Amino acid sequence: MSRMRVRERFAVTVRGFGILKKYCPGLVRDKALYELINSLQPFVSVWFSARIIDEIILGRRVEVLAAYVAGIVLINFLGAVCKGILKRLGDEKEALMWCWFGKIFSDKQMSLDFEDLEDAGIRHQRQEAEENLYMFGNGLGQLVWGTAVLVRAGINLAASLFLTGTLFFSRSGNAAADSPLWVAAVLLCILAGGICNSRATIKENEIFMEWCKGTVWFNRTFMFFGKELYMNPERAKDVRIYEQSVLAKRELDKLIRRNRENQRDNFRMALFPGAASVVIGLANGACYLYVVIKAFFGAFGVGSIVQYVAALSRLGEGVQEFMYLLSDNEMYCLHLRKLFEYLDLPNRRYQGSLTVEKRDDIEYDIEFCDVSFRYPGADKDALSHVNLKFRIGEKLAVVGRNGSGKTTLIKLLCRLYDPTQGEIFLNGVEIRKYDYDEYIALFSVVFQDFKLFSFTLGQNVAAGVKYDRARARECLIKAGMGERLEEMPRGLDTCLYRDFGENGVEISGGEAQKTALARALYKDAPFMILDEPTAALDPVAEYEVYSKFNEIAGDRTAVYISHRLASYRFCDTVAVFDKGHLVQKGSHDELVLEEDGMYYQLWHAQAQYYTHRG
Ligand code: ADP
Repeated sequence: MSRMRVRERFAVTVRGFGILKKYCPGLVRDKALYELINSLQPFVSVWFSARIIDEIILGRRVEVLAAYVAGIVLINFLGAVCKGILKRLGDEKEALMWCWFGKIFSDKQMSLDFEDLEDAGIRHQRQEAEENLYMFGNGLGQLVWGTAVLVRAGINLAASLFLTGTLFFSRSGNAAADSPLWVAAVLLCILAGGICNSRATIKENEIFMEWCKGTVWFNRTFMFFGKELYMNPERAKDVRIYEQSVLAKRELDKLIRRNRENQRDNFRMALFPGAASVVIGLANGACYLYVVIKAFFGAFGVGSIVQYVAALSRLGEGVQEFMYLLSDNEMYCLHLRKLFEYLDLPNRRYQGSLTVEKRDDIEYDIEFCDVSFRYPGADKDALSHVNLKFRIGEKLAVVGRNGSGKTTLIKLLCRLYDPTQGEIFLNGVEIRKYDYDEYIALFSVVFQDFKLFSFTLGQNVAAGVKYDRARARECLIKAGMGERLEEMPRGLDTCLYRDFGENGVEISGGEAQKTALARALYKDAPFMILDEPTAALDPVAEYEVYSKFNEIAGDRTAVYISHRLASYRFCDTVAVFDKGHLVQKGSHDELVLEEDGMYYQLWHAQAQYYTHRG
């Protein structure tokens, strides 16, 4: 376990509290207040009990006894009421704490650069921070619980010192019982208990930290091979046909072996606190002995024995808790540091601040100037030296074989990635200079691997909770989903998929694609990009999209990617890509005549199925 300096621990702890304050308002306060009252109450009771016993034995004054009894009843009553309220508030917030933690991660994920989402190192970093937090409360959770322990330790120390102060100075008249050596021995025993507890915590944490390193692998394997593979209906088809359960079983067996090793670790972890308990027991014994000997020689009355014995054992607990915190604090600071390393990942893409000019005439033009791009970790460019200009209102088709770079071109255009070389301009300004959200608002995209969500149909189309129902309906009709919409049991309010209840509707791949198209239409952005938008459609539905393409795209600038070359007839320009290079550009009628061109090859390769007779 790498060590952390005190100053760094302090800084990390302060930042941790800042995050808790922002994401989990009131949680630390309620937990701390509850612990304050909970820890203080027994001392107050002990003090009153000691006074009552002494009064019964010595003074026997009724009015004094009555005052003590009233005091203890009132304080216990008030304490119980406050504790009840604070416990309820604290527990409720603690239950919500896990959802609030989720918000920390979702906020960060949404602000990360897209390419970082695919980065294996960053994914591991997030998963490690997230899973350790969720499985054991490591880091932020420990900070909440640690605060409660700190309050308890503070009260235990302060109140028990207050209640035992007179013990050390009381005189019994017996030289041996009054010897200062007793005081030193008792305090040393208490300190030894604390030190043992602290050492046990450090050892326990060392094993635990090693153990935590494996949680990402453990969870990933369990979630995938233990759940996803069997539960996800989309995977279940392949799992059954290819008997992939054999693979899953092998991986799960590894988990079981690993779990057995963990059990051995658990046993080792329990050994250290066990050993510490023995020393703590001996320390308590020494305290009792000291109080009993002093009382035996008449240093104080019976009531005070109750007070001193209870207070001394609390003093021991306070010291142990305090020393435990000092040792444990390092572990949750290490976890917090991991969390902060993830939260501090830079968001390079969000640095632009220029406002995108809002134009009613949608006169936006885009130009790629000598753009090359290589995916992180790849050994060759996915796009090389691309120069391409989209004229306003142009319908541009992008053609090429699989892996030629078509989708990559779209991802760069939408700033999911930045070019490795060259620049992209919007109305003459480099796109990185624009405010990201404003820039991205210019594009409606239907990606090949689009995703719909288990919300209602209308919310899926509008990508929002409140929306214009008439417009959503109109877009669905335009995208060819009109008839299906009529059949839906609750129209636009029908929930898609069954993740959130039996009443959800499963839609086919083609219907999902039409819904995604409707979503792009609803956004009504000046640029419309369709990446294989008809791949899942039947020939009739595909024909409908083609024939209505100009109506769908309207006067927007549209980029259309499809392998069905017939679709390019209704595009003004065709850009042909091969191995990341833009190799041809022109109208369909021009390109189809260039016999040595890529487009000619692609066109005739596809056309032969329709012209040759078997
Ligand atoms: P197309 O859309 O023309 O089929 P792509 O633009 O998806 O092609 O891919 C172009 C090249 O980039 C391919 O060689 C592909 O393997 C590679 N590629 C695509 N996405 C990634 C990625 N996320 N990481 C690494 N390489 C990728």
